[in-house]
Amino acid sequence: MNFQLTREQALTKKMVEKFCEEVVAPTADDMDVAHEFPVDIVKQMGELGMMGIMWPKEYGGAGGDYVQYCEVIERLTAAHAAVGTVVAAHTSLCSGPIYYYGTEEQKQEWLVPLAKGERLGAFGLTEADAGSDSGATQTTAVDMGDHWLINGSKIFITNAGYADTFCITAMTDKKKGTRGGISFFIIDKDDPGFSTGAEEDKLGIRCSSTRELIFEDCKIPKDRLIGQVGQGFKIAMGTLEKARIGVAAQGVGVAQGAFEITKEYMGQRKQFGKTINKFQYPAFTMAELYTRIEAARLLVMRAADLADKGLPCGTQSAMAKFYASEIAMDMATKGVQFHGGYGFINDYSIQRYFRDAKIMEIYEGTSEIQKLIVSGAILR
Ligand SMILES: Cc1cc2nc3c(=O)[nH]c(=O)nc-3n(C[C@H](O)[C@H](O)[C@H](O)COP(=O)(O)OP(=O)(O)OC[C@H]3O[C@@H](n4cnc5c(N)ncnc54)[C@H](O)[C@@H]3O)c2cc1C
Repeated sequence: MNFQLTREQALTKKMVEKFCEEVVAPTADDMDVAHEFPVDIVKQMGELGMMGIMWPKEYGGAGGDYVQYCEVIERLTAAHAAVGTVVAAHTSLCSGPIYYYGTEEQKQEWLVPLAKGERLGAFGLTEADAGSDSGATQTTAVDMGDHWLINGSKIFITNAGYADTFCITAMTDKKKGTRGGISFFIIDKDDPGFSTGAEEDKLGIRCSSTRELIFEDCKIPKDRLIGQVGQGFKIAMGTLEKARIGVAAQGVGVAQGAFEITKEYMGQRKQFGKTINKFQYPAFTMAELYTRIEAARLLVMRAADLADKGLPCGTQSAMAKFYASEIAMDMATKGVQFHGGYGFINDYSIQRYFRDAKIMEIYEGTSEIQKLIVSGAILR
């Protein structure tokens, strides 16, 4: 067992910390108020290799690993959660299935520009009546001989308004359902019959883009199918299994960011002649929260290490996701509390963490669904 970072992992940590300090953190509150998608930040992250940190160099990536990816996601999210969301959806949800299940030609055509940050990616699984039960997809793909014809819609899709490449599921054989009836496709933003809906107005991660994907007789070439016909549900679940490690890293990031600003505030704010951090209740609460953040980070790193070794990581990623999102919510809630009334005022950043934390318990499978996965594995 080795808890030391390798030289490459330590360098990535240093690079992303510097980038967050100089670029991401200073703009976070203003961008949140303006609901501004981080176009410039995404461009800079592409130049620094952060949009493809864990993909091999021959596919345009930085040649890193899952541990480095989690370091990037944690630190970006600690500075500004919406930026972490953009990178996570792009990397593990969209580029991930192309890397793990795509052909060499698909990797060269679609993964390389994603990994270089030249194109932005999104992932469409959720539908109006297929949320936690994502296998109940109503979107259809029909084999027309020389092309696929897609009809239906996906909702709540991260990056949708700015993405160029979309990975989606669609039903190819309703009778078979999740057992061989769903297939997985790549969509280009300019495909005929494809469009996106209006931006959702959200409680948190306001600078991320969340829209509907609309398919009206959308015609795509035959070579856009990933894997075999009928493998789509397996591919989507395999993608989520690894991607949840990134959401867990986002949870740790929100918690860490909220911890840092609360700690600073508690060291400055005086009541009854002393700073808040001198009172035992807030101090002990911060000690407990800090311990839980560290425990969540270890769960994330354990799952990331398994993913890097190509070992099954579904149970570990589910545990990491629900545990880290719970500590994100708890730390942000206590953070607001220890700011007193100031925590309720929008001039103070802690309210942004409080609003951003909630989504961690919802997307890429709610906490309840993660507990279904874990209980299924441990009680089998
Ligand atoms: C901001 C945002 C971004 C998103 N980004 C994406 C994206 O990029 N791509 C994408 O495909 N989707 C995305 N989603 C969708 C997200 O993954 C779903 O919202 C989520 O999986 C829950 O589905 P649902 O909203 O339909 O809730 P439902 O499935 O209707 O769940 C409602 C409640 O019932 C509970 N529940 C449901 N089934 C069970 C069960 N079997 N046992 C116990 N409890 C259960 C849930 O835990 C939840 O508490 C995003 C959502 C949001 C809000």
